[in-house]
Amino acid sequence: IHILVCAGTGCSSSESNLVYEMLLDEVSRKGLSGDVQIIRTGCFGFCEKGPIVKVLPDNTFYTHVKPSDAKEIIDEHIIKGRKVYRLLYTDPESGEHLPDSKHMGFYQKQIRVALRNCGTIDPENIDEAIARDAYQALGKVITELGQEETINIIKSSGLRGRGGAGFPTGLKWDIARKNISDQKYVVCNADEGDPGAFMDRSILEGDPHSIIEAMAICGYCIGATKGLVYIRAEYPLAVKRLKIAIAQAHEYGLLGDNIFGTDFCFDVSLKYGAGAFVCGEETALIHSMEGKRGEPSNKPPFPAQSGYLGKPTNVNNVETFANIPAIILKGAEWFSSIGTEKSKGTKVFALAGKINNVGLIEVPMGITLREIIYEIGGGIKNGKKFKAVQTGGPSGGCLTEKHLDIPIDYESLTASGSMMGSGGMIVLDEDDCMVSVAKFYLEFIIDESCGKCAPCRIGNKRMFETLRRITEGKGTQEDLEKLKNLSYVIKDTSLCGLGQTSPNPVLSTMENFVEEYNEHVFDKK
Ligand code: SF4
Repeated sequence: IHILVCAGTGCSSSESNLVYEMLLDEVSRKGLSGDVQIIRTGCFGFCEKGPIVKVLPDNTFYTHVKPSDAKEIIDEHIIKGRKVYRLLYTDPESGEHLPDSKHMGFYQKQIRVALRNCGTIDPENIDEAIARDAYQALGKVITELGQEETINIIKSSGLRGRGGAGFPTGLKWDIARKNISDQKYVVCNADEGDPGAFMDRSILEGDPHSIIEAMAICGYCIGATKGLVYIRAEYPLAVKRLKIAIAQAHEYGLLGDNIFGTDFCFDVSLKYGAGAFVCGEETALIHSMEGKRGEPSNKPPFPAQSGYLGKPTNVNNVETFANIPAIILKGAEWFSSIGTEKSKGTKVFALAGKINNVGLIEVPMGITLREIIYEIGGGIKNGKKFKAVQTGGPSGGCLTEKHLDIPIDYESLTASGSMMGSGGMIVLDEDDCMVSVAKFYLEFIIDESCGKCAPCRIGNKRMFETLRRITEGKGTQEDLEKLKNLSYVIKDTSLCGLGQTSPNPVLSTMENFVEEYNEHVFDKK
C-alpha cells in the first residue's frame, strides 16, 4: 500500500509535512512499516482542496487532511479497509462523496503531459522517476536517434515555447545547433514572474528529473555540454529538489562524463535570480546570469547566435522542457494529435482568483474558457457572476463573457486581445472594477520595468497617474484619450516585450469595459 502526501508549496503551507510525519508515526506504531509506504509527492493540482492525501492501489483521494486525521486514515482505511468518508471530495451538484479523482470534474477534462509525474512520484527519489521512464528518452536520443532526427521529431510534434512567445521549439534548437562554437549553453528559464502563476515552480518541485533530462537532450542536440537553470531564489523548495535531483543524476551516471557510455558530457548548475520580472526576457536573463544588470538588449544578435558569455545559447522555459521526454518516447504524432491545428499539445495554467477550484491544471489546447471555468474550475465563487479572466499576466489582457467559447490556443487568444503568456489565469467576478485591475497591473509594471528605455520607464508612470486620477473620480475625457494614445506609443517604441505589452491590460479593459471607465469619468458622485 502506498500513501501519497502532497508536499508541494501549497499543501506544505497547510501543514502537509506534519500530516506526513503523523502518518509515518502511526504506521510505525501499528507495526505496518513493512506493508505501507508513505511518500511525499509534488503538486496534485487541486490546491483548493489541500492538503491532499491519496491512498494506492485503490486511488482514494482525501482532501483537506489535517495532521490529526492521520490516525483515522491508518485505523479505518488501512487496517479496517473502510474509507474515511468525511475526508472524501463532495460533488457540489449531487452531494455525493467521490472516492477517486477520475470522477471529479476538476480532473475529467485534463490531460497531464508536462505534469505527468507531479503528484505521482517522490521528487527526491530518482528510482521513482526512473520507474516512470525518466532518462529513457535521453538514452534513446543519444544511442539511437542522433541530433538531427531528434530535432525533426520535436519539429514535427509542433511543440511551441510555453514561456509565452510560442516560438517553435524544434526550430529554435536547430538554429542553435547550426551555430558553430567551441562552447554552447542550454538555459532553462525558471524565472516565473507573472502575478498568480505557479506552473514552473510546481513542475520543478514535483518532477525535477524531467527538466534535467530534457536539458541534457537539448544539450546533445545542439552540441552543448553545459546547462544552467535560472531560477528565482524565492523558490526554495524547487531549488532544494533540483539540487537533490542533479546530485542523484550524477550518482547514476546520467549527468557528467560519458553519459550512457558515449562521449557525450553534460552538466547542469543553478543560477539564482532575485525575482525581477524583466529577467524572464531572454537577453535580460542572460545578462543577469553573467552578473550584469538584468536589462534586455536589442535583438539581433539572438541568444542562439551570441548568448551567455557570448556563446550560442538555447533558452527554453520549464514547461517546454517538461514536454520533451514524453514527445521522444511517445512520438511526434501522439503529441500533435492533441490540440489545434497550430497549437499542439497541452498547456498548464495556474487557475486563480474568484473561482471555486483554485489550482494547477493541464488541458489540451483548443479547450474553451467555458470548460475551464465551469467544468474544471467549478464556476465562480459564492455564486457570483463571471466578469472576466486575465490571461498572460501583465502582458496579456482580459477575456470576457463573449470569449467563453473560443478555443484556447496561441492564435485565438491573441486575436481576442489577450495572449497565452506563461499560463497565469486570474478569474474576476461582478464585484471587480476593471479599471482597478488595469491599474494593479500597471503598478506591477512600474515596479518591474528595468528603466532602460524612456517609453516604458516614463510612459507607464504617466499612464498609472492617469488611471489613479480616473479611479479617484478626478479623470476627464481627455485622460481617456491620453491613455489610449500613450498606450500605442509605449507599445510601438519600447525596447523589449515587457514594455511592448505593458499597455495591454489597459487597452483590453478599455475595449471590453469602456462603460466602467466612463462611469468613473462621467458619473462622478
Ligand atoms: Fe526595460 Fe521596459 Fe525598456 Fe524593457 S521596455 S528595456 S523593461 S525599460
